[in-house]
Amino acid sequence: MSDLGELYQEVIFDHYRRPRNRGVLAGANRKAAGYNPLCGDKVTLYLKVEDGVVKDVSFEGTGCAIATASASLMTEALKGKTEAEAQALFGRFHEMVTASSAVPQAEMGKLSVLSGVREFPARVKCATLAWHTLQAALHGEDRTVSTEE
Ligand code: ZN
Repeated sequence: MSDLGELYQEVIFDHYRRPRNRGVLAGANRKAAGYNPLCGDKVTLYLKVEDGVVKDVSFEGTGCAIATASASLMTEALKGKTEAEAQALFGRFHEMVTASSAVPQAEMGKLSVLSGVREFPARVKCATLAWHTLQAALHGEDRTVSTEE
């Protein structure tokens, strides 16, 4: 973590201390849970999808700073996106935290604060947990996704 930029750290810890969109979502019609046994991170994601658009999203769970901040930032980024846009964002996010080529910061907005986890392979699963859970929820799979499958 010490190698992450100061601003990035600030945003991550802000979302860790005060997660956005946390709690059960009333009226949710998609739900999935995720578990990262390597770190102990757990997340449950609730989505309200109408006419192919993510109208609302929330999450619950316990996890490290990276997992919690990633879930919080993801929920902010998803609202108002179509399912296809959400899928595409997942792809770009995954690329940002795993690939050697940089994904333009402008394209990722606030999510780019998590780009630094690329330098810490053990934390990549913390950062992607909520996103893998999103995949399951979008596919209507109400099951627990494990990062170790
Ligand atoms: Zn973690």
